[in-house]
Amino acid sequence: MICPFCRHENHKEALVCAACASDIAVPQALIDERDDLIRKRDAMRDQLAHARGELQRLRTRK
Ligand SMILES: [Zn+2]
Repeated sequence: MICPFCRHENHKEALVCAACASDIAVPQALIDERDDLIRKRDAMRDQLAHARGELQRLRTRK
């Protein structure tokens, strides 16, 4: 994984950056939670776009 502090490319399972010694380990649970949140965000985005389209249709319908 790439170190967020110095952009050094480390091993995938590295816990500490080889270049700047920063702690770069991210617990799998956090990664899963983040992926889940991204999925929910995308779903909400779709719903919002759909709702806006509906609203626009209602407004322009006379
Ligand atoms: Zn680093």
